Amino acid sequence: MKELNKIKQNVKGKIKKDISLKNYNTWKVGGNAEYFYEPDNLNDLTVFLNLVKDEQVTFLGNGSNVLIRDKGIKGFVVCLKNSLNNFSFDKEGIFTFEAGLSCMKIAQISARKNFSGLEFLCGIPGTLGGALRMNAGCYGGNIWENVNSVILINKSGDLINKSKKEFNIGYRNVNLDEDSFFVSASFSLKKNELRDSRDKIKNLLQHRRISQPTGLPSCGSVFKNPDNDSAGKILDSLGLKGYRIGGAYVSQKHANFIITEKSAKSDDVEKLISFIQDTVLKEKKILLETEVKFIGEKS
Ligand SMILES: Cc1cc2nc3c(=O)[nH]c(=O)nc-3n(C[C@H](O)[C@H](O)[C@H](O)COP(=O)(O)OP(=O)(O)OC[C@H]3O[C@@H](n4cnc5c(N)ncnc54)[C@H](O)[C@@H]3O)c2cc1C
Repeated sequence: MKELNKIKQNVKGKIKKDISLKNYNTWKVGGNAEYFYEPDNLNDLTVFLNLVKDEQVTFLGNGSNVLIRDKGIKGFVVCLKNSLNNFSFDKEGIFTFEAGLSCMKIAQISARKNFSGLEFLCGIPGTLGGALRMNAGCYGGNIWENVNSVILINKSGDLINKSKKEFNIGYRNVNLDEDSFFVSASFSLKKNELRDSRDKIKNLLQHRRISQPTGLPSCGSVFKNPDNDSAGKILDSLGLKGYRIGGAYVSQKHANFIITEKSAKSDDVEKLISFIQDTVLKEKKILLETEVKFIGEKS
């Protein structure tokens, strides 16, 4: 990267070279980012993207739905989890959140103002950007349900307004050009006359603690549920709980969760995922699709 000094002189955010991404994903595995950038604010991000428009760029939120491969990621990793965290709202219930805000914070902000519709986000350990990309959801709610519009940024740093109608929204997926990234979203929320959003959040978090291995390194559900079935139940019925490859194993508490130990490599997780898919295909004739996204160089 010949121009690195020029880029550094023109942006306010932090740029680092060759840094480990283990602390930037919830499985705590994977290799290094060739370059790593955390914007100071939205304007800084637009300047940065324009300067690196010919380079490979990968966006990362909290890394809670990615498997970063051991060989790391070429080009720039743009991490939003410590920036782009402004928000605004009005009396009518129009809330606008920037993409680096955590799902938990968004649930709390709207609940505190007594507006309802985003309580379910409380236990999802991602950023808004990642949640929009994944159409994150649980307990009957999905992030895109209450979206009015979003602002995207393209690889040249241009900002583009889009309404919800312009997207095809599916199960844990939304159509998005490879070169577009979410920087904010605007939601329409309902006034909650019962003022019980904070109780709802407490109950949802309690339910998660009981049913999921919270507190251990995972990426949540690894596989999408097949139609009218549950990936976790299928894995459990095949006796896969506890099955291990290297430092990665299937959780005893919830079979759709893979847990990593300190010694785990990303490759252990990828091999375990393939083993599970092969087993389910052979035994049940079902092809399990992953919810988690694989990023970085293949070995
Ligand atoms: C314990 C645990 C529980 C979980 N429970 C749930 C759950 O109940 N429901 C659920 O849906 N998910 C759940 N997840 C998965 C995960 O938290 C969500 O998918 C979350 O929305 C991912 O957000 P992130 O910021 O971590 O995204 P990342 O993992 O950083 O990124 C995910 C994908 O989005 C892309 N991306 C990131 N930011 C942007 C952006 N600004 N613009 C465009 N693309 C971007 C990345 O390149 C990547 O492809 C859970 C995960 C864990 C660890």
